[in-house]
Amino acid sequence: MTAVRLTGGCQCGAVRYALLKQPERPSVCHCRMCQKAMGNVFGTFAGVEPEHFELTRGEFSVFRTSDEGERMFCSQCGTPLAWRGTGGGWIAVTIGSLDEPERVPPIRFYGEEGRISWAAAAVAHLATASGTGRSPGHSDHIRRTNRQHPDHDTAHWPPE
Ligand SMILES: [Zn+2]
Ligand SMILES: [Zn+2]
Repeated sequence: MTAVRLTGGCQCGAVRYALLKQPERPSVCHCRMCQKAMGNVFGTFAGVEPEHFELTRGEFSVFRTSDEGERMFCSQCGTPLAWRGTGGGWIAVTIGSLDEPERVPPIRFYGEEGRISWAAAAVAHLATASGTGRSPGHSDHIRRTNRQHPDHDTAHWPPE
C-alpha cells in the first residue's frame, strides 16, 4: 500500500495539516450550522480518524458549536479548516482547504433540512462569467500581490 498524504491549510499559511489516509466518505453538509461556519451555502468535509491526522504548522482556533462538536479555523485569516466531534472521534477537514480538492470528491450529503433550494442544482446552470479578474491587468495585479499560501507545503511562510 502506498502511503497517502493529503496536505492542506488556511489561506494565510499560518495553519497547515496533513491527512495520512484517503478519506472514506467525503461529504457535503447543508445544515444551518455548516452554512454559518463556512459563511457559505453548504460545507464540504473529508474525515479521518485522529491517528491519521497531523497538524504540521501552527494551531487551530476552536469554537465549540454544541456539546456534539467543535469547529476549527485560523485566527489570523479566518479560513474554516475542520470539524471534530467532541467525543474525540473523527476530524473532518474542509475540502476547499486541501491543496488538491479534486482528489477528494464528496460521495454523500447531510443536513437536508437546511438545504437552500438554489445551492446545488442552480449553480450548475449559471452562465459562465469568466475568470477571477475584471480584466487581464486586474488578474495580473491579483497574481502579483497574492498573499495566499501556495497549494503545497513550504519550509518557511511567508517567504522573506
Ligand atoms: Zn490563516
Ligand atoms: Zn452540517
